[in-house]
Amino acid sequence: MVVQSTRVRGDVAVSMIESAIPKHHAAALAARDGRFALAQFPRATAPSRPVQPPRAPEHIRAVRRMLDSHGRAIRDLRISITDRCNFRCTYCMEPEVRFAPRESLLTTGEIIRVARIAESLGVHKIRLTGGEPTLHPDLTAIIAGIRAATNIEIAMITNASLLTRDALRAWKAAGLDRVTISIDSLRADLFARLTRSTSSPADVLAGVEAVIAEGLTPLKLNAVLIRGFNDDEAADLAELARRYAIDMRFIEYMPLDSGHAWDASKWVSAAETRAVIEERFPLVACHDDDPSSTARSFAFADGRPGRVGFIAPISSPFCGACSRLRLTADGKIRPCLFSTTEWDLRSLLRSATTDEHIGDFLIDATWTKQPGHGIASPQFRQPERPMSAIGG
Ligand code: SAM
Ligand code: SF4
Repeated sequence: MVVQSTRVRGDVAVSMIESAIPKHHAAALAARDGRFALAQFPRATAPSRPVQPPRAPEHIRAVRRMLDSHGRAIRDLRISITDRCNFRCTYCMEPEVRFAPRESLLTTGEIIRVARIAESLGVHKIRLTGGEPTLHPDLTAIIAGIRAATNIEIAMITNASLLTRDALRAWKAAGLDRVTISIDSLRADLFARLTRSTSSPADVLAGVEAVIAEGLTPLKLNAVLIRGFNDDEAADLAELARRYAIDMRFIEYMPLDSGHAWDASKWVSAAETRAVIEERFPLVACHDDDPSSTARSFAFADGRPGRVGFIAPISSPFCGACSRLRLTADGKIRPCLFSTTEWDLRSLLRSATTDEHIGDFLIDATWTKQPGHGIASPQFRQPERPMSAIGG
């Protein structure tokens, strides 16, 4: 189903194509004050017990590469090193969220071992994430261990609340290559309400400047816009790309919040965000994104450095080029952000097994990767795990 709407924003008509609104929610779709109201997605039930992936075909295992049954190869491993966070972003984590027991979290040694084996199977890039990775007491050791064991590019995504020049210098010396920072608002009051933290936009911008000063670049900033909340800040956030000559990326709000409060009336499409930004800063498409990149990048038409990117998992799914696999803080492999099945690597890691056997497990798990997130399917269920427990 394709829903076309024209919304009037000031004197600019924003024409949108929202082709990804799930068909099965069409009945719940109602025009209300010029917006759409959409029922929430049903929840998936949590996996009931630890599970092992079925065996991949022998010829796939023999290649020693993480290949899926839809012709994609895994090059990018996202490792959530903790599910803890000092923020409670409204679109991610409820205040009363329950964290996994400490003993269930992977140890530093286990994380490094998986990284080493993943590299031998074709992974080029690791993103350390969480929760908030900078809260991990062994972060420097994790980075150093991965660096000593591999030549993989090591990136980290953070809310920037705990970034200091000293910490960044230590992580860089340990082997960290670059940093991505999340920032959703430049207004102190809104930032506090959105993150439910004591940090401020000024703290985040100090973190941005520290990352640039320490050379952990190219730096990317991420923002999630929520309608009626911070969506009027799109152009102000885009201006950060110009101010710092960096990439500012807008991620569409996904149904991965722990409160399961996502609904389409709060969702802002990449097309709408871009149109609003272009009212102030005309953009030109870059056409040089890596084919497996989640973002489509745009330069400023006036030639100023910096770029704006749009990550549109809902309105323009990029599943066909996906090269990512996720390892949760408690040791589960999730072939897709929206997987409702996850494979229990932790039990295997703790069973005195060989690296080859762990490699087989990663190959088998990859083979099960679903073709796409299936948000438009009647069978779609919002995963029980929120983004903070998956690792974004
Ligand atoms: N705490 C770190 C941070 O916020 O950057 C790293 C973990 S956070 C889960 C990783 C990314 O996921 C952030 O950029 C955040 O904005 C994004 N994220 C979290 N929940 C999301 C949601 N429901 N929809 C879209 N992006 C989301
Ligand atoms: Fe924490 Fe990041 Fe989730 Fe915000 S988005 S609650 S900072 S994990």
